[in-house]
Amino acid sequence: MAFTRRAFGAAILAAPLIAQAPAALAAAMKPKPKLGEFGLDLAAMDHSVAPGDDFFRYVNGGWLKANTIPADRSSFGGDLADNTQARTRAIMESAGALGTANGRKIADYYSAWTDEAALERRGTEPLKPELAKVAAISTPADLARSLARLSWGDLANPNGAGRPEPTPIVAGVSVDVKQPTRYVATLGQGGICMPDRDYYLVDAPANVAIRQAYQAHLAKMFALAGFDDPEGRARRVYALEERIAKGHRSREASRQAEKRYNPFARADFAAKAQGLDWDAYLKAAGLDGESVFIVAAPESLAASAAAAGDVPLADWRDYLAFRAIRNFAPCGPAAFRAEDFDYNGHVLSGTPQQPAPWKQAVVQTDRALGQAVGQVYLERHFPPASRAMVTDMTRNLKLAMGQRIKGLTWMTPATKARALAKLQNLHIEVGGQTPPRDYASLEVRPGEAFENLLRAQDFTRRRVLARLGRPVDRGEWSMNPQTINAQSNSTLVKVMFPAGYLQPPNFDPAADPAVNYGAIGRVIGHEISHQFDDQGSKFDETGALNNWWAPEDLARFQKATAALASQYDGYEPLPGLHINGRLTLGENIGDLAGLAISLDAYHASLGGKPAPVLAGLSGDQRFFLSFAQTHRSLQRENALRQQLISDPHSPNEWRSAEVRNMDAWYAEFGVKPGQKMYLPPEGRVRVW
Ligand SMILES: [Zn+2]
Repeated sequence: MAFTRRAFGAAILAAPLIAQAPAALAAAMKPKPKLGEFGLDLAAMDHSVAPGDDFFRYVNGGWLKANTIPADRSSFGGDLADNTQARTRAIMESAGALGTANGRKIADYYSAWTDEAALERRGTEPLKPELAKVAAISTPADLARSLARLSWGDLANPNGAGRPEPTPIVAGVSVDVKQPTRYVATLGQGGICMPDRDYYLVDAPANVAIRQAYQAHLAKMFALAGFDDPEGRARRVYALEERIAKGHRSREASRQAEKRYNPFARADFAAKAQGLDWDAYLKAAGLDGESVFIVAAPESLAASAAAAGDVPLADWRDYLAFRAIRNFAPCGPAAFRAEDFDYNGHVLSGTPQQPAPWKQAVVQTDRALGQAVGQVYLERHFPPASRAMVTDMTRNLKLAMGQRIKGLTWMTPATKARALAKLQNLHIEVGGQTPPRDYASLEVRPGEAFENLLRAQDFTRRRVLARLGRPVDRGEWSMNPQTINAQSNSTLVKVMFPAGYLQPPNFDPAADPAVNYGAIGRVIGHEISHQFDDQGSKFDETGALNNWWAPEDLARFQKATAALASQYDGYEPLPGLHINGRLTLGENIGDLAGLAISLDAYHASLGGKPAPVLAGLSGDQRFFLSFAQTHRSLQRENALRQQLISDPHSPNEWRSAEVRNMDAWYAEFGVKPGQKMYLPPEGRVRVW
């Protein structure tokens, strides 16, 4: 490949663009990219750092020094989140003027959360019926019914960062991964209110401190809700959660798709998970008509059922009362909101200051009515030209992945044919779900923040239950159009890019193509690659969990991915706390393969012509700079700790370190042996 290569340094960067009249005219007529003159924030670089020593700081060092995390946030990555929040706020605050049924619901839902005087005036009145239901639990069957009803308690968070599921057994209805043309009842694990079982079970000093803070939080919440003996209740709730945590399967083990597939017949529950009144539970969960259930972690199910059988009902009542209070707290009086923030925001993420009520209202309305908000967002903020451009790039990335598969020297033709068939079937969707979710059966009343939340939770429960017996809806999204994220779904064989993600620095229709390929291109590549990561690759071209690999190909693939896992195991973002290479493997494969195929797609997009040199930078240099620019972010220490323990994504700084595995990066930035990020060619991981 003959692409312009330039020595890279401050002197060349500072050189002025050579002015040419026609080019200058054309440039003046084009819309300006949001960052820099072609989409790169070159002023944010730190030239005192060598790219081969610390590429993240070389690209972002100036930005990292110039910015601080806002007091009410746990991390900061630039204007993108603020812009989206301001846009969705504007939609919600003016939704009543839309003159539609959804507009009315959005306006009422939102304003109930921002009316602080009303939240104060109503006090704990809205909570009382929920606590009365818990207090009425007096038999094992009552307990089973309550666990089933509350297992639907939390609204799914479209950003994937919701609170842990409130109850030990989480009922649901999902696509049957071995028979992806039908839905099936599912039972997963939950029931702890610290972010992961490690917080209960690993005695690191930080965990011990967070445990103590959590127990104090439990006691304060009981006291606020008017319970006697708050400390005693806190101790018992904590002890029960700790017992449930001991039964949990680890996150790393939970990623293994085939091990999550454990079919139970109705009779299996009594034999394999004794202690819970399963007849009462399944009836209350709306699943008593089912004959097959897929259990994610039978050992965890057995442990929780045993706890239902031998932990006193009084302890369970405290456990469930806390969950009712916790569900209420974000829309309760100020003292509840402050205590809820103190634990969930301050303790767990290190955020010093509670966000303004309107920010909470935006988050909550987004969860309850997000796809209705998203229809307005798409009309106002996602021009057809942007949709067309991104759709075009998705096609180029898909082609590049196909070329990669065809060119693999280690894969046998039979496995290649299956991989290509899967790629052929892969569906790529941009913007948001079409048609959007129908909210007709969700009732929203003015001034009833908590009751509206309960109705929204019940709406989700009914929506999920209604899947039973219906054909699989392949068009469904769990994200909203304004969500800043992207997703890959192995069972539906599709990847999705919401409009909210498609903003600078991720995507800018006015930016240089190299910059867009280094940013949104590699994210498209990342999501496509998820279909071929350590777990996605277990699903065939129909979305079924079904091994399509020749044994020798699978062995080679697993060897390459194991090397990537140990590379990431070697990173230590906090003293004593390493990245978990197995927990993050799927994301790291996605990052590496996404980067590789996006660079290929960028080269292909040049149509055989050399890339232009801009500000002394070659096309490939701009590609890699853009890649690292999209990762710029600041994060509080406890938020980083929570991510390292519970999140399958490596922290941004280490995600950007994937460049170490790319030969082109070494050539473009003159990276030499002895530099901190240097890997000898045989040490660079290649998966796809
Ligand atoms: Zn991913």
